[in-house]
Amino acid sequence: MKLDVVTIGNELVLGLTVDTNAAELGRALAAAGVEIARHTTVPDRPDDIRAAVAEALDRTGVVLTTGGLGPTRDDMTKQVVAELFGKPLVTDAGVLRALEARFKKLGRWPMPAVNRTQAEVPEGATVLPNPRGTAPGLWIEDGRGRVAILLPGVPREMRGLLVEEVLPRLVRRQGRGETGSRVVLSRVLRTTGVPESALAERVGPVEDEIAPLTLASLPSEAGVDLRLTAWALEPSAAERQLAAAAALLRERLEDHCYGEGDTDLAAVVLALLRARHRKLAVAESCTGGLIGARITAIPGASDTFLGGVVAYADDVKRATLGVPAEILEQHGAVSEPAVRAIAEGAQRMLGAECTIAVTGIAGPGGGTPEKPVGTVWIGARVGDEVRTVKRVFPGNRDEIRQRAAQAALDLLRRMLLRSS
Ligand code: AMP
Ligand code: MG
Repeated sequence: MKLDVVTIGNELVLGLTVDTNAAELGRALAAAGVEIARHTTVPDRPDDIRAAVAEALDRTGVVLTTGGLGPTRDDMTKQVVAELFGKPLVTDAGVLRALEARFKKLGRWPMPAVNRTQAEVPEGATVLPNPRGTAPGLWIEDGRGRVAILLPGVPREMRGLLVEEVLPRLVRRQGRGETGSRVVLSRVLRTTGVPESALAERVGPVEDEIAPLTLASLPSEAGVDLRLTAWALEPSAAERQLAAAAALLRERLEDHCYGEGDTDLAAVVLALLRARHRKLAVAESCTGGLIGARITAIPGASDTFLGGVVAYADDVKRATLGVPAEILEQHGAVSEPAVRAIAEGAQRMLGAECTIAVTGIAGPGGGTPEKPVGTVWIGARVGDEVRTVKRVFPGNRDEIRQRAAQAALDLLRRMLLRSS
């Protein structure tokens, strides 16, 4: 089954809002075995919306739109599509009641008159209830089997309606008259600490073995994700082939792979610490608390994470963490002896067996020929064992800080894997 997607909004064509709906629809529909034949983005102009929807209906007969369902003048999707289908707009009593109840509950009573228009639906359309907002989704079908599915633009509302109302209907529709549905399924293996090219050398040899699955490498500040995709296979075959390919890849990746899907490295580190009954403290300079924030974002971190120090100024490194003044004078705060002393200081001051320490130059200023912007010293301690690493990260200030936080977590992860 194929459909066209039309995302609607001036903010999208102007680039002020990133079109996350299109990306999300791409993933969710592919996983349900529905192919997006074309994706178009148009501004909030009736002529453009009409042209895009009409063309989509001619091409694939099924169009899914997002945006332009609000109560304001720039929200015209419903009017335009109703017109295209030759249906008048009529007030839906159920939608009106739900709207009024929502406004009463929010203490906004009487309901503004403009919101009444949100209860108008093209005659004969199926209303897709939207408990997260005021604009319901609409499913409009004509005698010729053409379908228009209208969803609100707000991503949270769009997602809810997609999962609860649209996907089940599409899957049912797809099941009709077809034997053996086909799906597009993916599985992601997450790696960090290995450059993309080195990773490609490692996994290259298995690419032929995993065919017809495809392998994509997706680099980011978190590392390189490897995405396996099964295209248009029967669900059970897709699952089976993905599992076999993931096992093959994991073997190749050894401990460079820290998890699957959207697993966060901070959660992996916490789990390793917990299994070893060890507590963690952090001492951060250039990451300014990013590592602490990553760790405390994981529910239940309190049983393992003691706390951290953001030691930004040299004085704080000295006074709070006991970094010797001679080290700072002789080697500078971004140096191996300094990161070693910071990691040790955190262990002593915060009373944790395991520590992570980071000190570096995030830029854009402050670089020198010997220590260019991006130079970061990372240290970790597990009991008496210490490891320090120097990295020179590419990117802007934000990217360098994100990469440094990830690399620091990874250093501790690798040490923990080798300790009991
Ligand atoms: P609308 O339903 O057109 O009133 O959209 C409401 C809000 O949702 C907009 O102001 C945007 O912030 C957001 N939005 C609309 N379309 C998209 C989209 N395709 N991707 C991400 N956000 C969107
Ligand atoms: Mg809009």
